Amino acid sequence: MTIDSVLPFLKKAKDENKSLGEIMIEHEVEIQGVSRKEILNGMKKIWSYMVNSIKQGVKITKESPSGMSGGNANKLMTYLSKKTKKLSSASVLKIAARAIGIGEFNSSMGVIVAAPTAGSAGVVPAVVYTVAEKLNASEEMIIKGLFASSLIGLVCDARASTSGSEHGCQAEIGVSAAMAAAAAVEIAGGTAEQAVNAAALVLKNTLGLACDPVAGLVEVPCIKRNGLLAVSATVAADMSLAGVQSVIPFDDVVTAMDEIGRMMPCEIKETSEGGLATTKTGLGYKLWLKRSGERQLEGEDEL
Ligand code: SF4
Repeated sequence: MTIDSVLPFLKKAKDENKSLGEIMIEHEVEIQGVSRKEILNGMKKIWSYMVNSIKQGVKITKESPSGMSGGNANKLMTYLSKKTKKLSSASVLKIAARAIGIGEFNSSMGVIVAAPTAGSAGVVPAVVYTVAEKLNASEEMIIKGLFASSLIGLVCDARASTSGSEHGCQAEIGVSAAMAAAAAVEIAGGTAEQAVNAAALVLKNTLGLACDPVAGLVEVPCIKRNGLLAVSATVAADMSLAGVQSVIPFDDVVTAMDEIGRMMPCEIKETSEGGLATTKTGLGYKLWLKRSGERQLEGEDEL
């Protein structure tokens, strides 16, 4: 079944006075024809992989083979542990560090959960983990938060795309931020309307975002973008809980994302033929990686 609008879910949530996550769980039980327990256990398993990727990611101190990433989540956590004054709150820095750490874990071949994609895998877990930690939320609330996020992801996928090669990074990190914002509202006990509104608020601010990975690797700008958009998603959740309304409703924002994605040139759709990938520095990394690959092959021939 294609889910291309949040409206029927919002109506059901309002009529039955239930949260977005609860409505999504009931929907999954119905369409999959399995018990609620099985549905919840499936998401708990996914959550266990997300938690592992957070814990492993912030420990990484080594650079990735390309030299473009690695160790930045750990740097942020170390900075946080120092007694010096920080410009951002501890939870903001933890969200950024955890999201970046998952990206670094992905670059080191660790197992991550695509949410919606591998390149944007850090946003949802980092926001959910840190918000739940701050609010002392139960596992049940975390799982409901993840179901709320999954509904947002499914609507974006059906109505537009969740692929950088199709619609640019707005469709990857933008969607992951929308998913995370909805999850954060759910965990905080907000209404379905507030969860969807938070998703709209943050997604709007990623429209037109280019997919321009340097040397074709999902490292620059991807990993740090996870950290910064995870923070935006959390602020969007707070804005929504405070009553700040997105003038453009969520479904319309996704339609706009689709339209913008179709207008974007292929140079900024994961081809690495434009944007940051073709800056002097970006091209320098590409050349350096090509030469080091060739040297490796020559070494193998000599053996
Ligand atoms: S820049 Fe491209 S590859 Fe990187 S996260 Fe965004 S969409 Fe994915």
